[in-house]
This record gives sequence, structure tokens and C-alpha cells, in this order.
Amino acid sequence: MEISKRVVKSIFVPSRLPDADFVANPYTGCQFGCLYCYAIFTCRFVAKPRNTWGNFVVIKENAVDLAKKQLARWPSSKKGATLLLSSVTDPYQGIEKDQQLTRGILSALVDAGYQGKVAVLTKSPLVLRDVDLLKQLNAEVGLTITTTDDKLSRFLEVRAPLASKRLSTLQGLTTAGIKTYAFLGPLLPHFRLEPEKLESLFEQIALSGTREIYAEQLNLPTQVRQRIWQEFSTAKPDLLQIYQKALSAEHRDFLSKLVRTYAQKYNLHLRLNDAIYHQDLKTH
Ligand code: SF4
Repeated sequence: MEISKRVVKSIFVPSRLPDADFVANPYTGCQFGCLYCYAIFTCRFVAKPRNTWGNFVVIKENAVDLAKKQLARWPSSKKGATLLLSSVTDPYQGIEKDQQLTRGILSALVDAGYQGKVAVLTKSPLVLRDVDLLKQLNAEVGLTITTTDDKLSRFLEVRAPLASKRLSTLQGLTTAGIKTYAFLGPLLPHFRLEPEKLESLFEQIALSGTREIYAEQLNLPTQVRQRIWQEFSTAKPDLLQIYQKALSAEHRDFLSKLVRTYAQKYNLHLRLNDAIYHQDLKTH
């Protein structure tokens, strides 16, 4: 893993996401290296070749100082803004254990008496470390969970915590009184052939105690598609065919119906009432 540092000019950056006014990404790159990750485009910001995605992290070493300064300067009109950590990296990837940039940003928000909504999206149990701050901020935490199959998770979400760990993290947060939701994104194509596996995912999420889900269809921009096709053609040729067939509106409609059916069956509130399909949403 190649680790480096850089100084940046801004940490809260305006966002085009439907549910966030600003995003904070304390790192560029992500150690988890998921094959479907569209944040691969951020390689160009740090002059890294795309085939190194997952193998480098650039630490934004002044992230916490910047957060304090930006918050101190913000006019009152911005102080109710919705903030998301993070949109193009995982804020609780392994390096956060030592660097504590995410924790530092959350502390800065607590110290500033931040009144807006704070949202966190991660795949990592490390988020449990910050329950104290998350509670003070009345923050909401999303855990991305795409499957209950740990073997598939290890293949697709290369170094991310296993799916089973994420489910137990969701349960731990919910038990601690944190507002939670499960982010089912991307909806994996094989669910069309094995709907019982998607149902099992809904069942496990419901058992975790969370009541909210947000579902996103698979989105494969060209550079992500190239990467997946390449990985699958040698390691998982059977999966390759399934993914190649999964890019149609008809496929998305089929999965959307399943999502709505299972959400109702397991009494989970499906945000936006559908599995959304969009080019520019969160990555994990
Ligand atoms: S999908 Fe999320 S966790 Fe996976 S590599 Fe991308 S940013 Fe990291």
C-alpha cells in the first residue's frame, strides 16, 4: 500500500448529491479497492494510474485544521447544511485508525456546535470507535452492504470488511442509539437469478434493527466497466456474463420490483421509494 500526504485547500466541498450539501473526503484513494468503485476517477487528482486504485491512499494532512477554519468562517446560512463523510473514499478505512482525520473532523463539528445534519457512509466497523461524537452530533450512519456472501464480498470488495462484519456493525450502531440505514449499492446483478439471496440480505438488515434502506442500481461508467471486465474474464467468467446482461433498463426494473417487494415484506423504509439509478451518487 502506497501512503503519501498532501496539503489541500478545502475539506468541506459543495456537493451535487441529492442528500448532501457538502462532502468531506479526508483521504484520496481507498484501501478497500472495491472492483465496482466509480471513485476510481479520483486517481487523476493525484496523478495515479487507474490500475493502482485500491493500492494507494493520499492523506489530506491538514483536513482537521481546515475543518475548524472553514466552520469558523461559515456564514449562518451554511450552518444548517447537510454534510456527508464521505463520497469518494471510505472515511473509516484502515489508515483512519492511526490518522484519525475523520474523528478530528467530527470533533471539529461538535466543538463548533454544528446544527446541520451530519451523515456518515462507510463499510467499516471502525465507525463504532466514534459513537461518542456521532451521538453528540445526532449523526446518521449508513453501512454499505451489498451481499450476505462473504466470499463474494471478498472478491468484489477486495479489502473491505466482510459483509457479515458490516451487518454486525449496523447492529452495534443501532443498539448504541445511532440513527442508521443500510446502503444497498450497487445492487449486484446475480440477484436477478437468485432472488432468495436478495431476500436474505433484506432479512439480515431487518434483524440488525435498522429500519431504513437506500438502494442504488449498478452503474458502470466506462473505466469501471473496463476494470470489472478485465478482472472477471480471468477470475469469474461466469459472473462476467451476468454483469454484461445487467446494464439494461429491463434488468433494473426487475431488481427495483424485488427491492420494493422485500422492503415491504421486512418493514424497511425504502428511501426515494425505489432503487435509484444515477451517474453521480455515493460510491460505497
Ligand atoms: S466503493 Fe467505497 S469502500 Fe469501496 S473502494 Fe470505493 S470508496 Fe472505497
